[in-house]
Amino acid sequence: MSNPIFELTVKAGHGRAFEVKAGQFLTITDVEGQQAADFVAVTSSDKSEKLSPTHTRRQLRSLFFDVGDALYSSLGRPLLRVVEDTVGVHDANVPACDDTRFTVDFNVTGHRNCLDNMHSGLALHGLSPFDVPEPFNLFQNGPVTPDRRMQVTDPTSKPGDHITFEALEDLLCAVSSCPQDIIPGNGLRVTDIAVSIHAANPSALPTA
Ligand SMILES: [Zn+2]
Repeated sequence: MSNPIFELTVKAGHGRAFEVKAGQFLTITDVEGQQAADFVAVTSSDKSEKLSPTHTRRQLRSLFFDVGDALYSSLGRPLLRVVEDTVGVHDANVPACDDTRFTVDFNVTGHRNCLDNMHSGLALHGLSPFDVPEPFNLFQNGPVTPDRRMQVTDPTSKPGDHITFEALEDLLCAVSSCPQDIIPGNGLRVTDIAVSIHAANPSALPTA
């Protein structure tokens, strides 16, 4: 595999923002397994155009996405395409955990949360907390049950499982290692997420 152009570690329970250029390949890796990684993006040219799970569900006519699918923006344009996925279980349906999730639902104040994690990096680019898009929750396991209810349970991802996207536009992205440690969602153990960017599809290159 070629050396990445860029790589970073999102520390357990924290968040990072970074940029990816059109034509580059973005890989997000669940380092230790069973760790949800909330992921958002806006276009670099117009930060009001957001990667949108809602529009993606409409375009795909599905609550879920697979290899080959694009993820769409709030203007209906494809921003990323899934080119490799070693786990195949992700969520595109529930919001990021935020301060009220912990204060209202769990009566816990001051808990780290995905919204603040993602906003901390995006704020450096001028985004307010209200500008942070709805997330794609990578590795998050949110099945629809036979009685049509939504669950969030522990991820099926194993150490090193990853998903790779081709960027179709220049994007400003943020990733949060979800700090949820009160109910299942991260195996009740919050761990690191790795981010790497390659010039060419890393899965298509010889490994010698
Ligand atoms: Zn979270």
